[in-house]
Amino acid sequence: MQPFISVPSLKNQSLKDLTTWRIGGYSTEVFFPATIEEIQRIVVHYRMLDRPLSVMGYGSNLLIDDRGFDGGIIVLKKNFCKHTLDHTDLLVLEAGFACPKLARLAWTMGFKNLAFLSGIPGSIGGAIQMNAGAHHHAIMDYVKKVEMIDTYGNIHLFDRSVIEASYRQTHFPIKGIVTRAWIALEQEGLLSLTEVLAHRSRTQPLAAWSCGSVFKNPHATISAGWLIEQVGLKGFVYNELEISVKHANFMLNTGNASSQDVLTLTRMIQQRVYLLTGYILQPEYQTLGSCF
Ligand SMILES: Cc1cc2nc3c(=O)[nH]c(=O)nc-3n(C[C@H](O)[C@H](O)[C@H](O)COP(=O)(O)OP(=O)(O)OC[C@H]3O[C@@H](n4cnc5c(N)ncnc54)[C@H](O)[C@@H]3O)c2cc1C
Repeated sequence: MQPFISVPSLKNQSLKDLTTWRIGGYSTEVFFPATIEEIQRIVVHYRMLDRPLSVMGYGSNLLIDDRGFDGGIIVLKKNFCKHTLDHTDLLVLEAGFACPKLARLAWTMGFKNLAFLSGIPGSIGGAIQMNAGAHHHAIMDYVKKVEMIDTYGNIHLFDRSVIEASYRQTHFPIKGIVTRAWIALEQEGLLSLTEVLAHRSRTQPLAAWSCGSVFKNPHATISAGWLIEQVGLKGFVYNELEISVKHANFMLNTGNASSQDVLTLTRMIQQRVYLLTGYILQPEYQTLGSCF
């Protein structure tokens, strides 16, 4: 199909293996661009075709419909992950760069502020879009500039001051794809990489297929996992989904769970938590949709 885009792509590709939940159907076409020019070419081409286009990093916060995605998907984790140093205290990272790799890179350079990212299995682009965080830090606390490509293929550079970020969400002045970020390196940091990773393996079922936390915490001092435990759902099994006994906010795919199973169990948890505690839980995971 479309040879003039000349960007490596796979047709009718299963998406489940591109996510950490291992759930989802097929996409018409999946692209693995290596340069900004290639991303621009895909965007412009899909706009000309008037076809849906989406973007993903590591698929670690994504629920993909079993019916698949009838459009193109740009996957940045494979080829779009270079980095450079800007002055001595600013890293410029392509959006597919992995968060744990960034934490390690910063640490070996003597900067401790990004250690909290070491246990977040996402890309820089996905982390910025989700304002990913842990241990009272979030990535947007350290982002200085973000480069994006809009729906027409134009490149924009946004200063942090024009980007809105709050708990697990970021809003940009335009719709589009995050392509690069400038992230500040600081010497101060409360936790070491070893402490962050040890805490994770003690408290989270890391070997299982999941999307991390299913729900956002409804309040700074009340965690969704604690509420799910209080209403007696820890360990609950629904088809091939299990509410983790290690961390009740993790919903594990133990075999062949479907996207519909996830939506059903999400609603069951929300209803029970609301009925018994009055708290409304909002899902943290995203469903794959057109980014334009
Ligand atoms: C075991 C485990 C532990 C986790 N722990 C944490 C945690 O401690 N804290 C936390 O915040 N999250 C956590 N997560 C969730 C997840 O890792 C983060 O939200 C991560 O930042 C998502 O990045 P990603 O590259 O996987 O994004 P994806 O899942 O691929 O995409 C997520 C969303 O971002 C969009 N997106 C992706 N890339 C771009 C881009 N370049 N430009 C624009 N939009 C983009 C996608 O379209 C989608 O809407 C965890 C997940 C797992 C599986």
